[in-house]
Parts: sequence; structure tokens; C-alpha cells
Amino acid sequence: ARVVDAGSDGDERTVEAALRPRRLSEFPGQPRVRDQLALVLEAAKRRGSPPDHVLLSGPPGLGKTTLAMIVAAELEKPIRVTSGPAIQHAGDLAAVLSSLMEGEVLFLDEIHRMSRAAEEMLYLAMEDFRVDVIVGKGPGATAIPLELPPFTVVGATTRAGLLPAPLRDRFGFTGHLDFYATHDLVRILHRSARLLEVDADEAGIGEIARRSRGTPRIANRLLRRVRDWAQVHGRSVVDQDAAHAALALFDVDDRGLDRLDRAVLEALCRRFRGGPVGLGTLAVAVGEEAETVETVAEPFLVREGFMVRTPRGRAATGLAWQHLGLTPPPGTDP
Ligand code: ADP
Repeated sequence: ARVVDAGSDGDERTVEAALRPRRLSEFPGQPRVRDQLALVLEAAKRRGSPPDHVLLSGPPGLGKTTLAMIVAAELEKPIRVTSGPAIQHAGDLAAVLSSLMEGEVLFLDEIHRMSRAAEEMLYLAMEDFRVDVIVGKGPGATAIPLELPPFTVVGATTRAGLLPAPLRDRFGFTGHLDFYATHDLVRILHRSARLLEVDADEAGIGEIARRSRGTPRIANRLLRRVRDWAQVHGRSVVDQDAAHAALALFDVDDRGLDRLDRAVLEALCRRFRGGPVGLGTLAVAVGEEAETVETVAEPFLVREGFMVRTPRGRAATGLAWQHLGLTPPPGTDP
């Protein structure tokens, strides 16, 4: 079956949804989390009761939403999708909770951005399967307890460290997603190319995989851009040549760094002489929110050895200076 129209790019979310693996067995990468999750789900199925609540953490685009959907699919239960920012009032959460079916999976994306009041309601619901519905206002207000059928919360966050401990403790299983190895991205890209009906050769796929910041979402997006380039230039195959040209056009460098990554390194080296500099100051210098710098750019730059976190702030490594073609000041760590 034709899953996605190869001719039109469609809405990014629609394309993303079409490219999501549906079962744990077709989910490449994250072997540790996958094996742990498989065990937790299998045991729950055998017991015939919902599994512990699941918390997934890690940078954007690594598969948290995909895994939440897989949890529901493996349990053969429906899934309800919402997010922290969408739940500003405890009442919003009460409405969702009180309509859950037995065994349903409640996916809470960006759970660290939920309001305090909603968070407290969530503790109680996760632990006792109960919500207190407040009726009335002022001194006459009463809390009416409402029993809920057992369900499973799958929470996703880019920053597990930001969750208050009482909330974190309600999750029986926490999986931390890490950047993908290139060979896993190669598998993901082959599958995506097949679904998008894009003819791509090994070298083309390899080039995209190496330059995708270890992130499936970016890999899939770059594949579509390289496909665009190949189409417009009358090439029938996504090959290394097409990958080089398209990635250069979209400012992805040979190590996979994008504009934000390079802006952070440029600011660190040129404006702050390599640092250390505080996150807030660094974010202002690149014109981004501190949270974006911390959750999007930093994890990758640190993992690739371009940047280090020190007690006094963020600092550039020798590799960063070298990558930008600059001479590091004496005493810079490699
Ligand atoms: P997150 O919720 O962590 O931001 P998503 O689950 O939305 O990430 O994944 C983003 C995109 O990347 C989706 O389109 C999905 O198809 C793809 N993706 C993520 N992880 C994988 C994987 N392991 N295999 C294949 N595709 C993946």
C-alpha cells in the first residue's frame, strides 16, 4: 500500500506519522530501552493488568511519541494524546482523566510544562486512580472523589531533571533515549525511503545518516530535502552527490551541525573566548531561549565533544575551535 504520496510532501506531522514504526519489533535503535520496555509490557500482558507508568526522556525527535504509540499498540489499548502546555488548569486534566477507559494509555508530551495544580492532581490519579473533583467555590467548595479505571500514563520530557521528584517517583519505569548510532539511522532511512518511494543508494543514505545529529526526525527530514534536490535536478536516485549538494544548501555541515549548533559554538569561541559562560548569557548571544539551547543544541554538542559543561558554565573544546577554523587560546582542553 502507498502510505505517503511521494509527489507531495504533505504536512510534516502527517509524513512523520506515516513513518513511525508501529511495533517494538520494528523499532530500530535504543536497544536498552526497547528490551526493558518489552519486558515490562509482556509481564503486564501476562498479568492482565496495565503496566507501571512509563517516563521517556531525551532530546526531541528520538522517538518518545513513537514509543508511546507502540506501548498502546503492544497492549492493544487505545491511546489518548495530550501535552503539558495543553493542560494549564487542573480542570483540563480532570476532564481527560475522567473520560479514560480501562487500560487506556494516556500520553503526556512535554510533561515538565504542566501547571503545578494539574501536576498534583496527576500524582493522585497515577497512584490511587482517583481524582478529586472540586465542586463550588470559596468556603463552600467540596472535593468529590471520583474513582478512575486503571490506566497507564506515558510521560515524555526533554528534561527528566526538571520533573519534581514526587512526579518522577510515580513512574515505575523510566527510559532514557540517547542519540542513534549511524547504522541505526541507516536502517531507519532505508525504511523511510521505501515508504516514501524514494530511490536512494547506500552512499546517499550513509551520507544523510552521518549528518543527521543522531536523530531520526532530522534524518527523515533531510531525506525529503535530498529527494527534493534530486527531483529538481533531474536525478532519479538519491546518491552521495545529491546528499552533498542538498545538505550544503540547508546549512548542514560535514559533522551534521546545523545553524543553531554552529551559532552556539561561534558565540562561545568568538564572543566569550571559549567560555565558560552561563547558559542564559549564551542563549541571549544566539537569540534563542535557554531551554532550546539546553535541550536541542547542547546535548548533541556535548556528546560529539564540541562543548563541555563545567560548574562555571559552558565551554568550547579544542575540537570546537578546530571545527570553526579558529586557533584556540593556550590551555584549551582538546
Ligand atoms: P519525539 O517524541 O522524541 O520528539 P517522535 O517519536 O515524534 O520523537 O519521532 C520523530 C520522527 O522520527 C517520527 O516521524 C518517527 O517516524 C521517527 N522516528 C523516531 N524514532 C524512530 C525509530 N526508532 N525508527 C524509525 N523512525 C523513528
